[in-house]
Amino acid sequence: MANLTYIGTRDQSIRATASQAILRGICPDGGLYIPEVIPAMGKSLEELSKLSYQELAYEVLSLFLDFTEDELKACINGAYDEKFDTKEIAPVVQKGDAFFLELFHGRTLAFKDMALSILPYFMKTAAKREGIDKEIVILTATSGDTGKAALEGFSGVEGTKIIVFFPEDGVSPVQKLQMTTQEGENTCVVGILGNFDDAQSAVKSIFTDKALGEELEEKGYLFSSANSINIGRLVPQIVYYFHAYLEGVKQGALNMGEEINFTVPTGNFGDILAGWYAMKMGLPVGHFVCASNDNKVLYDFFRTGTYDRNREFHVTVSPSMDILISSNLERLLSHMAGQNTTKEDMARLSKDGKYSVTITEKKISGEFATENETYGAIKGFYEETGYVMDTHTAVAYAAYQKYKVASNDTRPMVIVSTASPYKFTKDVMMALDEKYAKDDPFALMHVLEKTSGVSIPEPIQGIEHRPILHKNVCERDKIKEFVKGYLL
Ligand SMILES: *Cc1c(COP(=O)(O)O)cnc(C)c1O
Repeated sequence: MANLTYIGTRDQSIRATASQAILRGICPDGGLYIPEVIPAMGKSLEELSKLSYQELAYEVLSLFLDFTEDELKACINGAYDEKFDTKEIAPVVQKGDAFFLELFHGRTLAFKDMALSILPYFMKTAAKREGIDKEIVILTATSGDTGKAALEGFSGVEGTKIIVFFPEDGVSPVQKLQMTTQEGENTCVVGILGNFDDAQSAVKSIFTDKALGEELEEKGYLFSSANSINIGRLVPQIVYYFHAYLEGVKQGALNMGEEINFTVPTGNFGDILAGWYAMKMGLPVGHFVCASNDNKVLYDFFRTGTYDRNREFHVTVSPSMDILISSNLERLLSHMAGQNTTKEDMARLSKDGKYSVTITEKKISGEFATENETYGAIKGFYEETGYVMDTHTAVAYAAYQKYKVASNDTRPMVIVSTASPYKFTKDVMMALDEKYAKDDPFALMHVLEKTSGVSIPEPIQGIEHRPILHKNVCERDKIKEFVKGYLL
C-alpha cells in the first residue's frame, strides 16, 4: 500500500491521497491530479516476467494506490476475469514488422475496458476508505468507446449512477447501439448535438461548478468522472506497457533490458501518458510515436511546441481519436515544466485556444495518418499478413511506417491496438473493398468474420435486434440543465 501523494497540475498545494483523487476525478481549480513523485518499479524485469497479468497489475497498482493488499487484490480479481475473452487479458501478436498489443478483448471491444473494468472497484474501495455514504454520480463524456466501457463497468453497481454524453452524429453505428441498448437502472445515455470537445468541456465545467456541487451534495450525490482525467483510469493502463515489453522478450524480439518502442493511437493523451509513466518507472522504452488522425493537433504540437486548437474539426473513420483538446497532455506539461507554467498555459488554452512551450521530452514524437492512409494501411496489411486491424490501430500502423522511414529506428515496435475491427466493421470492410459501401454494417459483420477468421465477439452478436433503451438528445449548451433535471 503506497503513501503516494497526488498534487494538482496547476497548483501543487492541492494535495490528495489516491482514494481522494479517484473520488474527486478532477481538482477544484480544473487541474488534474498527478503523482507528486513517479514511483520506481521495485521488482526486476526478470521477476516481473514470471507473473500473470493479474499479478503484474498488483505490482504496478500497489505503487500508486493507498489500498490494502486485500482490497487491491479484490479489485484486480473482480476486474480481470472471464469478462475478457482470452486468458492472457492482453495478447501480444507478432504480424509483419510489428507486435500488436491487443487491448480489445474485454466486453466492449475497446482498450477502455482495461481501465474501466477496474475503476468501479476503485471507486467503491475509495468511498469505503474515505467513509463516503453518498451516491456517486459518474459523469462521462465519450468520443465513442469510453461511454460503453463505463456503462458496462458501472451498470448495476450499487451506490452509483452513471450519465454518458456522446456526440449524436460522431460515433460508429455499433458504438451507438452499444450505448443506447445499455441495460441497468442506474444508467443514463444522452446524445449531444455537438462533438466530443463540447461534451468534455461541459462535463469539466459541471465538476468545477461549486454551487451545483453543493446543491447535489445536499441531495446526497457526489460527482466523479470515468474519463481519463481521473487518475484511476490512467494507472491500470500502465500495467499493459510492462506486459507488452515482457511478452516481447518472451517471444524473442529483444533481450531483457533492451529498449522497445510503442506507437499509440492517441486522442485524449491518456493511453500514451500511461506508457510514459511506465518508462519513468524504469521500463526500457526507446521511443513513443504519438499517432493522430486528421485532427492532428498533437502532431503539430510535438513538431513545433505550439498547441493550437483553432482549426477545423474533422469527423474521421477513427472517431475515438476525434479530439482537439487532449486533456492528459496537461499532465505531461506539468511534469515537464511545473505547476505555474501549466496554469498559465491552460488559461491561454481556454482563452485563446493555444499556447507554446519548450518540449524537453525527446522520447515522444508525433506522426499522423490521413483517411486514405488509414484505409491503405488496413488493406495493405491484410494483403500482406491476413491480419485485420481496426481503424484506430490502422492510424497507428500508418504512423509507424512514416516514423520508420524518417528515423531509421530499428528497435522492435509495439502497435497499441485499441479496438476490435468489429467495432468499426463498415469502415474496415470498405477499406478492404469499396464495393461494401452500400452494405448494411451489421450484415457486414458476417463478411468480416469470413475475411479475418476471427469470430464475431459474443457481446455484439445480434446487437442490431436489441431494444433501444436510451433516446435522450440534448443541445451542447444544455448539458448542465440536463444533469440537474435528471438528478434533482
Ligand atoms: C479512446 C481511444 C483512443 C485514444 O486513447 P486516448 O487515451 O484518449 O489517447 C484510441 N483508440 C480507441 C479505439 C479508443 O477508444
